[in-house]
Amino acid sequence: MAPSTHFKLNTGAQIPTVGLGTWRSEPGQVRQAVSFALKNGYSHIDAALIYGNEHEVGQGIKDSGVPRENIFITSKLWNTHQPNVGEGLQQTLDALGTDYLDLYLIHWPVRLVPNESSALLPVNPDGTRSIDRSWDQSETWRQMEEVYKAGKVKAIGVANWSIPYLEELKKKWTVVPAVNQVELHPFLPQHALKNWCDKHGILLEAYSPLGSEGAPLMSNPVIQEIAKKNDVSPATVLISYHVNRGVVVLPKSINENRIVSNSQVIPLSHEDMDVLNGLAAQGNAKRINTPLFGWDLGFDDWYKQ
Ligand code: NDP
Repeated sequence: MAPSTHFKLNTGAQIPTVGLGTWRSEPGQVRQAVSFALKNGYSHIDAALIYGNEHEVGQGIKDSGVPRENIFITSKLWNTHQPNVGEGLQQTLDALGTDYLDLYLIHWPVRLVPNESSALLPVNPDGTRSIDRSWDQSETWRQMEEVYKAGKVKAIGVANWSIPYLEELKKKWTVVPAVNQVELHPFLPQHALKNWCDKHGILLEAYSPLGSEGAPLMSNPVIQEIAKKNDVSPATVLISYHVNRGVVVLPKSINENRIVSNSQVIPLSHEDMDVLNGLAAQGNAKRINTPLFGWDLGFDDWYKQ
């Protein structure tokens, strides 16, 4: 059976299963990449204020000529805006040139306190990050619920939230997060988190599906073998893995050929899925993006760093 092109969010909305990532897409390149992707089959763009390129992402969206209502746009509340969600959201809406988002995520369950060192990545005089560990994430979520109920965003969710953080949020939420966007690939399958989110109707989204910068996971021999067997590229295996598992996937590319090939999703056999799902347990577990600033955020793979 052909893999799904859309999954259903707990709001009832449809989300395209493959979205274009935009982290580390230089402003000079991302405009063209976004426009090209939208003209060539993509309808889902993953953005964030901290990527510093939302203005160009917005220009790419306009250049594409695709009507706004046919595009699913996600962005993320940056950590310094946690006490003022409305302000962070407005900056993103202005930069993207749109009056609503399809999905808005809390980027990390960590509040940073801006100071004269930086508005977005502040540090203390001793060089450590300016983190407010006493900040109550449920207050940020309450404000997320407000902008959702006001209709400025069609769905709200989180990113980089482990089970202990979600358990804590659950005590206070009145709107269940629609999505949890985390690092996911066969070397970090996060089975326990997937089960928890499935049970609560929260859709997982996979970031860094290729292993981030330089796509290092493509060179793994097991991935290459499965790719050869299916007559596709290792990137297609790494991307298809998620959709076959009921997870949204967000490959990033600024290269036109790779943007096109990354939108290909193939059905994977139970046998291939078993191999991919079991890879990490065989001593191959690997996390590429260290949870923010080396702070243990409660992921159960933390000890395997
Ligand atoms: P990816 O795993 O998507 O890998 C991107 C890298 O792979 C780039 O160097 C890209 O280069 C290269 N690449 C892409 N396609 C191919 C291909 N078919 N063959 C060979 N190389 C390829 O990394 P990201 O870390 O960027 O993750 C994807 C997206 O997830 C981000 O862009 C962002 O939107 C989101 N994200 C969210 C985070 C969060 O905290 N919520 C954290 C990290 C990412 P090139 O562009 O030259 O093709």
